[in-house]
Amino acid sequence: MNRVRCLVFNAALGPLDYRVPEGMTVEPGSVVVAPLGPRQIVGVVWEAERLPASEVPDAKLRPLLQVLPVPPLAAPLRRLIEWCADYYVTSLASVARMALSSSAALRGGGTVTEYRLTGHEPARLTPQRAQALDLLNGQQGTIRELAEIAGVSDAVLRGMVNAGILEAVLVDSDRPYPAPDPRHAEPDLSAEQAEAAAKMVAAVEAHEFRPYLLDGVTGSGKTETYSEAIAAAIAQGRQVLVLLPEIALTESFLKRFEARFGVPPVTWHSSLKSSERRRAWRQVAFGQARVVVGARSALFLPFARLGLIVVDEAHEISFKQDDGVRYNARDVAVMRAHFESVPVVLASATPALESLQMAEAGRYERLVLPSRFGGATLPDIRVVDLREQQPPRGQWLAPALVDALKDRLLKGEQSLLFLNRRGYAPLTLCRTCGHRFQCPNCSAWLVEHRLSRRLACHHCGYEVPPPDACPECGEKDCLVACGPGVERIADEVAAILPQARVALVTSDTLTSPAKAAEFVAQAEAKAIDVIVGTQLVTKGFHFPELTLVGVVDADMGLEGGDLRAAERTYQQVAQVAGRAGRGEKPGEVLIQTRHPDAPVIEALASGDRDAFYAAETEARREANAPPFGRWAAIIVSSEDEAEARDAARAIGGTAPRLKDVLVLGPAPAPLSLLRGRYRYRLLINARRSTELQRVIREWLDPLRFAPGVRVAVDVDPYSF
Ligand code: ADP
Ligand code: ZN
Repeated sequence: MNRVRCLVFNAALGPLDYRVPEGMTVEPGSVVVAPLGPRQIVGVVWEAERLPASEVPDAKLRPLLQVLPVPPLAAPLRRLIEWCADYYVTSLASVARMALSSSAALRGGGTVTEYRLTGHEPARLTPQRAQALDLLNGQQGTIRELAEIAGVSDAVLRGMVNAGILEAVLVDSDRPYPAPDPRHAEPDLSAEQAEAAAKMVAAVEAHEFRPYLLDGVTGSGKTETYSEAIAAAIAQGRQVLVLLPEIALTESFLKRFEARFGVPPVTWHSSLKSSERRRAWRQVAFGQARVVVGARSALFLPFARLGLIVVDEAHEISFKQDDGVRYNARDVAVMRAHFESVPVVLASATPALESLQMAEAGRYERLVLPSRFGGATLPDIRVVDLREQQPPRGQWLAPALVDALKDRLLKGEQSLLFLNRRGYAPLTLCRTCGHRFQCPNCSAWLVEHRLSRRLACHHCGYEVPPPDACPECGEKDCLVACGPGVERIADEVAAILPQARVALVTSDTLTSPAKAAEFVAQAEAKAIDVIVGTQLVTKGFHFPELTLVGVVDADMGLEGGDLRAAERTYQQVAQVAGRAGRGEKPGEVLIQTRHPDAPVIEALASGDRDAFYAAETEARREANAPPFGRWAAIIVSSEDEAEARDAARAIGGTAPRLKDVLVLGPAPAPLSLLRGRYRYRLLINARRSTELQRVIREWLDPLRFAPGVRVAVDVDPYSF
């Protein structure tokens, strides 16, 4: 009897046993099609030998239907999946599903059918067809993708195919990617760069697990330095994974990569078209895609011959996934490198405290690049005390910052204003009755976006046009904007400096790689005087003429009492400051604050990073927070508030009474209503040596909840 245990991609089910029919061969990791009830589903063979007993007798087992023609998931990836499921207290299937994210890639051969306009336009069109014709100009994709773009149903598009308005094109997703050339344009490294690069290259050649913390100041050339390790891996015939935090930023990275290696890398992120996704997934699995640059989900790609992992801007919070499997890509990257026996490089100018601590403990090797490349100096940092230098009412730029902006404009140099808040104003209220506009699905205010004329929720995507009259009291033209967003700051700059060319850089304006490329080109051509942006502009960009950075509100991140607030503020301000003075002219940074004597502001002003990390380390030690103690959160949610509260109380009522494990709550979660679900949270704090995951599993496993209740565990939550 040939019995195997498979993970099937149904969240509610554990692994299931199947029979391997005569003539079929499978091994652990084989991707298979299996019957489930009346349906067929994709699964992965997980265990093939020494199966533990199961309730299903041999005679009742259903046979596997098919082995899909892709390489089996290799042992290191399977171990990673097991580690993630265990560490993040989730099911194997939900992690494995991330590795097979492109199920289309698994079936059949390499061709995909896509559609595009033929150019034939009938004289009379239904309004929906006219709309599709308009929006699909220049687009190509599957019916589903095009329907999404055109905002019409699949059926409308199929009708257009029949009418000859759209035509089918076969796309070969097995065509190979051009190979990067490690010797295409080798840079001359500075002595300190060369020293760090040599270490990483040796590790690549040794093919051993070695974690590095590449700790280099902004502008020190971290990319050039780790690119030597990438070159070494390519030369060895191995594959490389580079994780980047913000996909909008990859454009400048892709350009630099192409300049160095002659061809662009393969990209992996959520907005790939299905044909691109399929091509990338398959070429990674067959070992043909050599360098993949991706968002965190690229960590679960089935590399055939991985040789190196790089995590750039490794401190970034966007590496933490906050729904589904709540994992931290930085930590998972280190684990994958461990299972694959390859080096991993965490690059940052402002490492996470956890990473520095690992270096101090000797677990990571720290490679330091202490100075900017090419003799550029680090910028001067000045604090503007907003209590003394008040901006005029309804404005947010203090006189000192305004003067500095005027000065740069006169000199023909560029400035950057940073405020991490999209839109025009974070809160809108009625002047007459005080009504505040709130999201119906979330406990959050609606943010006014004046450019697109809407009030939007930044948590669930809900949006409405700004009403003419207050829905509460009926008064007309009564809406007042409270507080600044970047759009409002851009207006303020335009009012103060009417001659200045202002560019607004947020995820609302850099909506595509093409837009990002256009922005970079304009900034480089000096067609922009003042950039106003959110955290999108804090990293990656290199504009030599940019000599002034203004931080509009350094206190914003400090509110809220989150234990990571100071670290996050430090990182953001240090990163955005790092955009100034990267060329020949020295840079200056003005930080607007009401708390000039907060330790983080003082550390920024004096450039004393060590002092900041030392103070932060003490604060973490006191709070028994990472890297000293451990935190986890349990988030209980339901569309029914009472149901969520009852479930959370039931969990709280059965909390384990263990020495060294402290359970706080339940209390309403920071966003107590999110996407229509009421949320309660319990926090768990434990010593490092506690087997926290086992404690949580044993605690939650016996509990049963109402069907509408969801219970999610967040191990190492970002905020606590
Ligand atoms: P970081 O990522 O450390 O902030 P970058 O990698 O962006 O720094 O490097 C800053 C600038 O210096 C970039 O324009 C980069 O191309 C240039 N640079 C760094 N090292 C070298 C080198 N060895 N040769 C030529 N240019 C370099
Ligand atoms: Zn909302």
